[in-house]
Amino acid sequence: MDGDIAENGTRFRLFAQPPVLAAFAQPETVWVSPAPGEIGPGPSDDRMVVVDALNKRDYYEFPDVPPYRGAQRTPLRPGPDGHFDQIPVDSPEFRAAHMYGTLRFVLDIWQGYFGKRIDWHFESDFQRMELIPYVDWNNAQSGWGFIETGYRVAQDGSHVPLSLNFDVLAHELGHSILYSEVGLPPEGEVRAAYQGFHESSSDLIAILSALHFDSVMDLILTRTRGNLYLRNVLNRVGEISQDDQIRLASNGLRMSDVPDIDTPVERLTQPERHRIGEPLTGAVFDVLVEVFQQNLVEAGLISPALDALSRRGGVAAVDDAAVQPRFDAAYRANPAGFKTALIQARDYLGVLLAETWSQLGWDLRFVDVGRALLRADLALSGGHFQPEILDSLVWREIGGRQAPSAHRKRAARPRWAAA
Ligand SMILES: [Zn+2]
Repeated sequence: MDGDIAENGTRFRLFAQPPVLAAFAQPETVWVSPAPGEIGPGPSDDRMVVVDALNKRDYYEFPDVPPYRGAQRTPLRPGPDGHFDQIPVDSPEFRAAHMYGTLRFVLDIWQGYFGKRIDWHFESDFQRMELIPYVDWNNAQSGWGFIETGYRVAQDGSHVPLSLNFDVLAHELGHSILYSEVGLPPEGEVRAAYQGFHESSSDLIAILSALHFDSVMDLILTRTRGNLYLRNVLNRVGEISQDDQIRLASNGLRMSDVPDIDTPVERLTQPERHRIGEPLTGAVFDVLVEVFQQNLVEAGLISPALDALSRRGGVAAVDDAAVQPRFDAAYRANPAGFKTALIQARDYLGVLLAETWSQLGWDLRFVDVGRALLRADLALSGGHFQPEILDSLVWREIGGRQAPSAHRKRAARPRWAAA
């Protein structure tokens, strides 16, 4: 799928992470699925349209809703070749291109994982999603028929536009994807579990989407040499880039560390609603790391002995000083093999999540998410990764506190790898 898009799609340049980190100072070229010439002024296509509003506040409540009819910049047009990759990075037009390019890129990725078109949950009112690159507000939001971005105040007091923040945009589109594919609760019926699930799953959509940038993959692999269990390195990536997604993903929270999931939702602050989802984010992120390492073993890139030595969660503390040099040597011998193993783990997780979410409704409990993950793995891999998923869920206390069994049987062949 990605190969077809690269051959036939339209080029954009995106910041994979905020450009404060040297590795991400230059935008990376990506392709989105509409062919050159199919993307109209805005940019716009049949799913989304950028409206570059001037002097706009955030949408608040009815009748302040899309479509925006106030003053706006002239819609951006592509270059003569139909691509959008020649726009100066510091121009307002670049923000319009970056917002559209990011959201179209993320939609393409998740339509690929779902294996189908993802309809908008608001299609009864709006055919296309309205994208507003700049509103005078220190936040971003997705709502009924739109996504709009303001700014974040940096430490030096300057305003950093969120239209250039890949993770924020991908997270907001994540909410729309989940409302479409999992469900829209009736007015007043939403529970803390669904709120926590939404924030967690939107973060996961952002993280897996960011792993579609070569620059992100390469940075993670060169920093860790494939030892992704070395959590503090991933934490550092998150902190230096001033982006909290990766840091949140590798959190160490269990359900007993966060507010009670049965708390009535009106009694929870917005940060608490987010926090309730963090053990679930952590569980799925652990599955990604463990599937990656299992892939390394099965591809012969690391030995079963090194695998056993480096795994967390056992009784013995991991001796990083003994483990890291062996990862360094293994990675040096075949960096391309490590990258392939990470791409396979990423894409297995993407399809696993799509399959999981397809089984759920807005009245879900976290235990339902855990069961759906296990069922999805049975369908996709014949149950090859049940040990990794089950151990991660149990450690996070999702579905109650139970002792993990010492020996789990692994199904022989990952069917997904052959597809
Ligand atoms: Zn959110």
